[in-house]
Amino acid sequence: MDLAHAGNGHRKGTYVIVASREKQYELAWRVEWPRLIFEPTEHLTKLSEQDRLQLFNGILASYRKSFEVEEAFKVSAIALTDDGDYFIAHNLRAEYDSPVNPFRRACAEDNLIRAIHHTKGEKVKIETLYMMGGRTEANGDAPPCLPCGMCTDALCKASRRDAQVVTFPASDGTVPIKLNLDAHSLSDVKAGETWQTHMPHLNIDYELTLSAAGRDVSKRALQSVESGKLKLTKANGLEEDASVTDINAFMVKKLVSAYRARKPTGSGLHNVEKVRCAVVRTADGALHYGMDMIGPDERSMPFAEQTAAVRSDELMKPITEMWVMEFDPYDIARGVLHTSPKWALETVYKRKMKESEAQPVVDSIKIHYIPFNSGKIQEQRLNELMRNYDMEDIFTSQYKGNKGYRGYGGNGGGDGRVH
Ligand SMILES: [Zn+2]
Repeated sequence: MDLAHAGNGHRKGTYVIVASREKQYELAWRVEWPRLIFEPTEHLTKLSEQDRLQLFNGILASYRKSFEVEEAFKVSAIALTDDGDYFIAHNLRAEYDSPVNPFRRACAEDNLIRAIHHTKGEKVKIETLYMMGGRTEANGDAPPCLPCGMCTDALCKASRRDAQVVTFPASDGTVPIKLNLDAHSLSDVKAGETWQTHMPHLNIDYELTLSAAGRDVSKRALQSVESGKLKLTKANGLEEDASVTDINAFMVKKLVSAYRARKPTGSGLHNVEKVRCAVVRTADGALHYGMDMIGPDERSMPFAEQTAAVRSDELMKPITEMWVMEFDPYDIARGVLHTSPKWALETVYKRKMKESEAQPVVDSIKIHYIPFNSGKIQEQRLNELMRNYDMEDIFTSQYKGNKGYRGYGGNGGGDGRVH
């Protein structure tokens, strides 16, 4: 296959001549932002899978080159929607970053999702995401990158459950692509390779179904809260030597008291939708906690994980372990347990890495999700109910153990691989 004229990345009138082995034909593409338009469309379906990837590689390279971001971190992305349309986007300058959240960047994927939703509504889902990025390294390479935590969360909602993700290293678009279908993470993808994976691999489900036992424990605890029978009289503080049962009791107490404080007379289910608590342990052994309470008017509150991470950060120690519990009467009734959104974990992880130069290196963070309970259950029982993860289970990216990570915020998040 030959990509002629692919270097001209202006937003209209760019032509690509595709020559497959069997047949030669001309396929035109142009960008009428936010759409990527092919003519004639049916020629697309005639391409082999490899030629198709090669074509998207060429378009992404051309588009990436054409937009005016004078930053080392440039990403272009194409989404194929399940109704057969193509959208294209790139990232924006660092100064468009939200001052509210330093981790919110004007990412290519975010722009794609907004464009799709604005144009078609939210029922249309992404079937395949093609992306080319990220940071150009000193030797001129720009290895493939993956969506940031916030984009991963948003993409999961905006995509089909089985959506494919193809991430290309930046090139001029003419080099034949080398496809890696087997890598577990970006660290396994060799220089010059393109990684094809799928959305579920990039994001653990953050809604887990509780076991029958977990369901029972949570429902009975909820009934106790609703009836006012759940009394936590012990003044729980968190000492450094707190056991998991102490941490559990602490979180239950915090959640219940926060919920009760906001509970209106009558049914409490309308004023506060959920309360969340996270406890983090830092490398010096100290424990810190964060809370968030989500009601109809409080959607923008930071996650408990973020609050806990910010608190621990004041002491400049990396985070080694985290426990999270959520009190959500609706979820308890449904028998599900929420884990963390990926972006909240990204925050925790970045906080961990921030000071790692000056601290003993922490290879991973242990994360425990505990179903809401009465706060009085024994350690063995608690261990049976907890769901445990390592960062490796959650991030299939360079955030995983990336000792080269520096800082956060600004353009591209700093590590050059995951934007
Ligand atoms: Zn992003």
